[in-house]
Amino acid sequence: MSAKLIKGTEIREEILEEIMAEVAEIKDKHGVVPGLVTILVGENPASISYVTLKIKTAHRLGFTEVQDTQPVDISEEDLLALIDKYNNDESINGILVQLPLPKHVDEKKVLNAIDPDKDVDGFHPVNVGRLMIGGDEVKFPPCTPAGIQEMIIRAGVETKGAEVVVVGRSNIVGKPIANMMLQKGVGANSTVTVVHTGTQDLAAHCKRADILIVAAGVPDLVKPEWIKPGACVIDVGVNRVGEKVSEKTGKTIAILKGDVDFDAAKEIAGSITPVPGGVGPMTITMLMKNTLKSLKFKLGIA
Ligand code: NAP
Repeated sequence: MSAKLIKGTEIREEILEEIMAEVAEIKDKHGVVPGLVTILVGENPASISYVTLKIKTAHRLGFTEVQDTQPVDISEEDLLALIDKYNNDESINGILVQLPLPKHVDEKKVLNAIDPDKDVDGFHPVNVGRLMIGGDEVKFPPCTPAGIQEMIIRAGVETKGAEVVVVGRSNIVGKPIANMMLQKGVGANSTVTVVHTGTQDLAAHCKRADILIVAAGVPDLVKPEWIKPGACVIDVGVNRVGEKVSEKTGKTIAILKGDVDFDAAKEIAGSITPVPGGVGPMTITMLMKNTLKSLKFKLGIA
């Protein structure tokens, strides 16, 4: 293996330690801690496990964490009223609505009802606009793209003037990370190309990339011969390709694969993220960072 492994699991620990230290300092000086509420509607098992992980992480960091579980038949009106309650709750700095919501609820309406200054997911149109403007305007970069940028920075990869190719143009990964990498500033200032299913020659674009960020959701989409020798490869894809019995727990777990043919790519790339254990652990970490930031904005110390 020639590529350096960029491990999200290790970077996560570094960042969580930093957050914990800041939380302790703010508690000492200002007598407050960040507050995060997670609103879960219904009993979707995947949603329950995501929310549990978020709450556990918030707890570990010393945040005030509230898990607000609502019945699957809650009306849209009641859900909007709940959001309004947390918008006005001084102890809450971050509001997170776990998706998906039941079909009778207008997801967009609910997400747009969150106070943009408590929108730690960074999906509110106001925060999307702030991200587009860049610089000091940015409050809450969306968590997965923020995690990707943080990994690139901490891996010591040069971004200024780098050719960045982003595979995928979703609102949660592709578009925001492309926008972040083209801004002037640390961990950015790159020349960015975004490719998608309408792109004529995917391979030709990927081959130019000094930093290749792949978020397509297609296992092994990126072939080793598409990778420029020495490039930094960030594989965002999480694809379930089968099941296996865990040696640790004896439970049946999913076999996960990224969008890049990892085994072959690691012989060509300069650095690469594994799947699992790469970008995955960064999303919740950056959610915590955004929640801390929200409190810091409120205290005027951000
Ligand atoms: P998405 O909304 O499905 O978007 C996929 C994008 O990839 C689309 O823009 C699509 O192009 C493009 N694409 C798909 N197949 C392609 C192909 N053959 N050639 C070129 N472009 C192609 O996906 P997403 O939500 O961004 O997620 C992408 C992957 O990242 C998924 O595997 C997801 O599970 C994973 N993910 C991981 C994390 C995490 O680790 N924390 C977070 C979010 C997502 P069109 O626009 O033309 O259709």
